[in-house]
Amino acid sequence: MCNSTHEAALCAIKLHPMWQEPLAIPGGDRQSPIDIVVRKSVFDPQLRPLKVQYEPRTCQQIWNNGYSFLVEYDDTTDKSTLKGGPLEDQFRLCQFHFHWGENNAWGSEHSIDRRLYPAELHLVHWNSDKYSLFEEAVIEENGLAVIAVFLKIGKRHEGLQKLVDALPAVRHKDSVVEFTKFDAACLLPENIDDYWTYAGSLTTPPLTEAVTWIVMKRHIEVSHDQLAVFRSLLFTSAEEQVQRSMVNNFRVQQAVKGRTVRSSFTPFLQDAPSMK
Ligand SMILES: [Zn+2]
Repeated sequence: MCNSTHEAALCAIKLHPMWQEPLAIPGGDRQSPIDIVVRKSVFDPQLRPLKVQYEPRTCQQIWNNGYSFLVEYDDTTDKSTLKGGPLEDQFRLCQFHFHWGENNAWGSEHSIDRRLYPAELHLVHWNSDKYSLFEEAVIEENGLAVIAVFLKIGKRHEGLQKLVDALPAVRHKDSVVEFTKFDAACLLPENIDDYWTYAGSLTTPPLTEAVTWIVMKRHIEVSHDQLAVFRSLLFTSAEEQVQRSMVNNFRVQQAVKGRTVRSSFTPFLQDAPSMK
């Protein structure tokens, strides 16, 4: 039986091979993604504004890894960094990717009061103050910081279009194409001061509980046609006989297990979520 929209989405979906094998989940008390219940989130006046400094010249390539496409950045130096917000240390941008649905009713990993979005962007950073490589940081409690931005269908996103134009070159699994001078900051909403934050995990294997999640309150808009290009990608490599569309590449939601979601803004003053 499918009770929620999210479960209904999952019932309709054939499991991606990545989720077909039993997975070792480390710990298990701070897994992601989760549903953020706005009235249960706690305003924390100590949460500072985020400081995002991305250098477009560190952008290197796009890789279809068979589950999503990763836009990968040179992370050998502190040129594209994230600090501030809930973070004590400086974090380096290493890649960003998206999760999306087969239609516009679902696709995001997180939800806000059970409301799903058609897609969700993840900007992945690792702690370069404490560690020297992503591979080291990914197994540590304070190793990663991921910014999540919800995507809504609306007007065409001009900044995203350069990426959309490059995607047909990475249609199949394992294909890589050079992609340079892309400013990931263009994918952030105008106001990045309002966010929720909580301690969680990666939503793909190894699922390590290394992530400080920073979920933006404001969404960005993309056109239906732009998202259609995401959906035209394939989970499968060119050699495979049965080709499968890259859609519904999100993880099932996880139990909150007593965690507190903090907000950088007061939810009940101005800006209350609309009733729509
Ligand atoms: Zn992700």
